[in-house]
Amino acid sequence: MDSMSIGCTAGSQVRRIYLPAFFIGGPRDMKRRYLDAMSLKEIQHNLKYGEEAQDRLDLVAGVFRAKCEVLRAEIVKKKLYGEVVAFVYVIEYQKRGLPHAHMLVILKPEAKALNPEAYDRIASTELPDPKEQNCLYSLVIKHMLHGPCGSLNKENVCMRNGVCKNHYQKDYIEHTTHSEDGCPHYRRRKNGQSIKLRNHSLDNRWVVPYTSYLLSLIDCHLNVEIYSTIKLVKYLYKYVYKGHDRVSFHIHFENDPEDIYEIHEFQSARWVAAAEVMRRIYRFPSNEMTPSIYTL
Ligand SMILES: [Zn+2]
Repeated sequence: MDSMSIGCTAGSQVRRIYLPAFFIGGPRDMKRRYLDAMSLKEIQHNLKYGEEAQDRLDLVAGVFRAKCEVLRAEIVKKKLYGEVVAFVYVIEYQKRGLPHAHMLVILKPEAKALNPEAYDRIASTELPDPKEQNCLYSLVIKHMLHGPCGSLNKENVCMRNGVCKNHYQKDYIEHTTHSEDGCPHYRRRKNGQSIKLRNHSLDNRWVVPYTSYLLSLIDCHLNVEIYSTIKLVKYLYKYVYKGHDRVSFHIHFENDPEDIYEIHEFQSARWVAAAEVMRRIYRFPSNEMTPSIYTL
C-alpha cells in the first residue's frame, strides 16, 4: 500500500525493506503520530446526524488516548510544573459516560508548590476576562464550571445526603491561602463576573481548579489539584487503585421451570463498559507508573 501510494506499479519497484512503526522518527512512526494528532478532531467530524460521542466509542478511545499522551508529554517531558520524580496514572471507566484518567504527579523538592504564589502559578479558579482571554473564557465555561448543585439544584449528581460531595459552592476568597492540613484555598474574588449556565447564574465560587495552558491545549475537563500532605497523597493512591466496577446480574429465562434456585440466579461479575472494550481492542495502556516498582 505504501509503495502504490507513491506511484510504484511494477512488482520490482515495491519496497521490501521497511522501518517498522516502533522505529522512532521513521516514516511510519511519523504517520502514526500524525494520525494521533488528527484523531483529536475526528469525533465531531464523523458523527452522523443525531449521533453523540458515546455512540462512537471507537473514536472516543483514540481521541482519549491522544489527549492523555499530550498531557503526559507536557507534564513529564516538557516539565510544565517542574522536574517530575514520579508519576502514576489510571484510566477509569464508569458504567455510563466517557473514560477519564486520574494522574498523580510528584515533583522534585525544589519544584514543589509550597506557598500561595506557587499555587496561583499552577491553578486558577476564576472566570477569565472575556475581553482579554476570550478563548480561555469559553473553555472554562464549557468544561470547568461545577453544578449548579446544593440549594440551586438538589437533584444534581454530586449531591449526597443533601450536600455536594465536592463541597461546592465554595466561598469567595480575596487571596490564595493554605490551611494547616496542607490544602490550598484558591483565590475566588467577588468581582461581579458571572455567567448564566444551566438556568442559574454561576460565578467564581463554582469554578473547578484548572491550569490555563493545559485547558487551552487539550480542550476537555481537566481538574488540577495541589496536595502536599502524606494523608492526602495516600487517599489519592487508594482512589486511583480502587478497583474495577462490578455488577450483580440475573439471567432470566421466560419459560423457567417452577423451582427457583436463587444462588444460581444471581451472579456477581466484573463490569466492562463499551468504552473500555474499545481501549482493549486497540491495546492502549490502562495505567502506567514511573519509576517502576519491584516487589522484593
Ligand atoms: Zn456539587
